[in-house]
Amino acid sequence: MAGILSAIKLREAGFDDFTVYEKADRPGGTWRENRYPGIACDVPSHLYSYSFAPNPDWSHRFAPGSEIQAYFEGVAQRYGVTPFIRFGSEVSRGTFRGGRWQLETKDGRRDEVDAVIAATGVLHHPNVPPIEGLDRFAGALFHSARWDHAVRLDGRRVGIVGTGSTAVQMVSALVDRVARLSLFQRTAQWIMPQENPAYSDSERAAFRRRPELLRSAYADLGTLFHAFSTGLVDADSPQMKAIEHACRTNLEENVRDPVLREKLRPSYRAACKRLVMSPDFYQAIQKPNAEVVTEGIERVEARGVRTRDGRLHELDVLVLATGFRVDRFVRPMQVVGRDGLDLDAVWAQRPSAYLSITVPGFPNFFLLNGPNGPVGNFSLIEVAELQLGYAMALLELLRSGRCREISPSAEATARFEAERSEAARRTIWASGCRSWYLDDRGVPMSWPWTFDRFREEMSAPRLEAFELR
Ligand SMILES: Cc1cc2nc3c(=O)[nH]c(=O)nc-3n(C[C@H](O)[C@H](O)[C@H](O)COP(=O)(O)OP(=O)(O)OC[C@H]3O[C@@H](n4cnc5c(N)ncnc54)[C@H](O)[C@@H]3O)c2cc1C
Repeated sequence: MAGILSAIKLREAGFDDFTVYEKADRPGGTWRENRYPGIACDVPSHLYSYSFAPNPDWSHRFAPGSEIQAYFEGVAQRYGVTPFIRFGSEVSRGTFRGGRWQLETKDGRRDEVDAVIAATGVLHHPNVPPIEGLDRFAGALFHSARWDHAVRLDGRRVGIVGTGSTAVQMVSALVDRVARLSLFQRTAQWIMPQENPAYSDSERAAFRRRPELLRSAYADLGTLFHAFSTGLVDADSPQMKAIEHACRTNLEENVRDPVLREKLRPSYRAACKRLVMSPDFYQAIQKPNAEVVTEGIERVEARGVRTRDGRLHELDVLVLATGFRVDRFVRPMQVVGRDGLDLDAVWAQRPSAYLSITVPGFPNFFLLNGPNGPVGNFSLIEVAELQLGYAMALLELLRSGRCREISPSAEATARFEAERSEAARRTIWASGCRSWYLDDRGVPMSWPWTFDRFREEMSAPRLEAFELR
């Protein structure tokens, strides 16, 4: 998404000497890799689209992953940027030397470039939990982002570890196909009820005929989600109260068995963890062949999962819906900035960046969806578009000859990070739960202010925060 976006916008701005390095053999990133049953976006598709490339043909309010994948491939083709992508080319190292970046790829190529945009993704490196015995399982075992489509599911006993958005989507998609579905739950999730209606042929025809309808759908959904962001960053806001009420009512009214209801009741506030949206998770998990297992996992054995109460849950297929290593960003690529400064060392404690885009000591290096940006239930496309606009304003300083090297000052970065982590402590993400939003100190790794403030910051770089050479 962010690489294709960069290519389109660079071309529009008149840059024609650039390369998009892609280690895989086709575009799509997240949507190429995550192909589990039930995958869909959880931001409405008319918002989860490039602002400049609305799509009249989304089949549902929350489109399935395969449509999103086709959308990204289609946009890349339509905007003529596919030829700029070098597939099968993994950048393993970038070194800033003599005022330029020397890039090395795994297949032995060396290129020299003036600037680097790191559009390497955030939910990209699967997180495999340290459960004893994973290698001893005799059935099929894989992470949700590495789905093995050769494995038969129908009529089999399937276990899912994890209860985030991915697991919830999978439960709904699989329960009617499998003989038994065991959901291994460490933490219960609040479920925001969210219908996912299909668009009718006539609705889609109207979107095709009248582009202004698409533009207003994008704008209206944007306004809705930005208001939602205001709620998230103020744990006591009326928006938060409304979200909590909707989630609680969903649980109370839709889970009949009081024992199961208590198992599914989280002990923290709604939206503290990434809010899970689903039209039908509670209906699915109450089917007779489904079970929520709350007993902790002792180990995995050849025949299934042994929980701490000694029970063996026999399984044919075990899926790890255990998320991603969200502190990696551009890594494992080795990034070496000015005077041999190693990004891995700079980020040894935790990753940070000035406004999530630039890092002191790493000139002409721009991250999209980098550390501490807005990640909670927004369209990351919108986020990347704004960040890219900001990065391109800095690139323009290089192109115009105003400077040859640009990087943020250490002082501006430290001040930003101090203000950010202070504000982050007041958000809903810091209200008392364990989640992937939290860093090693328990501080949310996210943009802690409103989306409007983010947009305002992104509208133009404040040059006093940068060192220009
Ligand atoms: C299951 C799932 C559901 C999601 N749902 C939503 C949603 O509803 N709404 C939302 O806003 N976001 C959602 N996201 C987040 C999603 O990741 C982003 O929306 C978006 O797709 C990220 O795009 P990206 O280009 O930044 O990164 P990615 O899609 O991760 O793409 C990064 C690309 O860079 C390549 N790459 C990485 N490192 C290198 C290297 N060193 N050399 C060469 N190539 C490299 C990768 O192969 C990949 O193709 C979801 C994520 C997941 C996993």
